[in-house]
Amino acid sequence: MRGFRSKLDAGAPLNLAVETEKAQALLQTFSTASLLASAALGAFCFLADHVLALPFIQQHVWLRAALDNSVHGAVGLWSWAIVIGLRKKSDFYEVALAGFLASVIDLDHFYLAGSLSLKAALNLPRRPPLHCSTLIPAICFSLRLLMWACRLKDSWCSLPWMLFISLASHHVRDGARHGLWACPLGHTPPISYWLYITITATLPHLCSVLMYLTGTRDMISTKHGVAIDV
Ligand SMILES: [Zn+2]
Repeated sequence: MRGFRSKLDAGAPLNLAVETEKAQALLQTFSTASLLASAALGAFCFLADHVLALPFIQQHVWLRAALDNSVHGAVGLWSWAIVIGLRKKSDFYEVALAGFLASVIDLDHFYLAGSLSLKAALNLPRRPPLHCSTLIPAICFSLRLLMWACRLKDSWCSLPWMLFISLASHHVRDGARHGLWACPLGHTPPISYWLYITITATLPHLCSVLMYLTGTRDMISTKHGVAIDV
């Protein structure tokens, strides 16, 4: 009885510590630094879109496409940095991977065009496959299930969320020009410009809250060893 009680006594502070750490991790999502970083992300999108609209860039199709794709990458990278914070070397690799994923999906333009011609890739009869927004939850859930089935370590736990934020930020930015494509239901009209900026700046926080609610955030918190911040 005494042993059982001492186990309970030891377990209670531990649970309290874990709960406190989880609450702190969530609060850090809305810390001043995180909120400033997401406001700066919105400002970056606004500036980048204005630079891309300059006549010199509009006249050079390859330059415009390369810069536009780099902005997608930067937005994905920045968004994931807000979610996980940058505290150690491996965080930079993760953030770089998020940026890569956010920009590489535009290769589906060339896949659908069946050619490396930029002109063909930009004049497609329909939206290319990776631009279907219904795929985002389907891919992320499938990846989570696959990881669970393969019993991958906790260090992989954030991968579906990284993919979510990379794809979602790309789709929202494209959505300001072309609308969102919810296949097989159809297209929405183009998203209003300020809605796109607002969603882009809010998405990392939404992702953090969803990660907290699904328990991924405490795994990351443990993995990173400290509360998450930018
Ligand atoms: Zn795109």
